[in-house]
Amino acid sequence: SESFLSVRDLRVRFSTEDGIVKAVDGLSFDVERGKTLGIVGESGSGKSVTNLTILGLHNPLTTTIDGEIILDGQELVTAKEKELEKLRGNKMAMIFQDPLTALSPYYTVGRQLAEPYMKHTGASKKEARDRAIQMLEKVGIPQPKVRFDDYPHQFSGGMRQRAMIAMALMCDPDLLIADEPTTALDVTVQAQILDLLKDLQQEFGSAIVFITHDLGVIANMADDLLVMYAGRAVERGSVKEVLRTPKHPYTWGLLSSMPRLDGDIEQELTPIPGSPPSLLNPPTGCPFHPRCAYRDKVPGNQCTDARPPLGEGRAAACHLTAEQKQTIFIDEIQPR
Ligand code: SF4
Ligand code: MG
Repeated sequence: SESFLSVRDLRVRFSTEDGIVKAVDGLSFDVERGKTLGIVGESGSGKSVTNLTILGLHNPLTTTIDGEIILDGQELVTAKEKELEKLRGNKMAMIFQDPLTALSPYYTVGRQLAEPYMKHTGASKKEARDRAIQMLEKVGIPQPKVRFDDYPHQFSGGMRQRAMIAMALMCDPDLLIADEPTTALDVTVQAQILDLLKDLQQEFGSAIVFITHDLGVIANMADDLLVMYAGRAVERGSVKEVLRTPKHPYTWGLLSSMPRLDGDIEQELTPIPGSPPSLLNPPTGCPFHPRCAYRDKVPGNQCTDARPPLGEGRAAACHLTAEQKQTIFIDEIQPR
């Protein structure tokens, strides 16, 4: 099946007072209609920048973008702001970590759902109101006709998150970008929201790009997975493949630093030593090399000198041989 969203060799650079930040440095991925791509990585890995770039929400004065973003046949990198604005209302929508970035405190929730819908579709006030109430009901807001007239502060955190999902669904988007959508919520509400998103995807057939730092969340949400580090994809595959037999030392680190779902509370979590690199002055060669415990298994200075490519399909951008990746994982990582 063909991809609905196709990103090719995306490069995003910001000019800052300190120099050029290479926030995204040669990123490619595809998302099929009705499927979910999880993008996982620490903060500063470029995952949120990628999302804002797809939506066209970057600052054009300080941002340089190269490469291609093709949504349903349309090129977005070169698209005019007017076209992007239209797409944001009709074809793509976003769900943020903090609903208060999307919901204004000064207007009722209902009005904030209905007005953009009227603007984008030419619907009447009554039609927009009916649609908004229907969407609030769909996302599980009780008494949606009454709550339509509430202000965001009258909603609980979980309800605001639901309202933002309702807002994103108003125009029946083909692409939904969810950036850490449940991070601020407690575990029970988080599970409810994730279930809701899955149900809605079934019903609406949207493609979802799901951005998170939490591999546990992604296991239940995504079909495919992209692991990002320092503005690049370092590992790609189906969620099952990547979580069962991860091939990149950074992914091993992420897994070891994640609480296990089988609930052994005495377990030792091993955070990845060091911190993500500065993207003002990224490391040469493999961007993970300053933190990698396996670089001395690679002959010569490859890890510091040569950028490991990410192959097609199931792949990891690392100079270790396929056999080394497998053996190290089985012997050292899996038993933890
Ligand atoms: Fe580690 Fe070298 Fe692989 Fe990078 S290429 S992850 S430094 S072994
Ligand atoms: Mg982020």
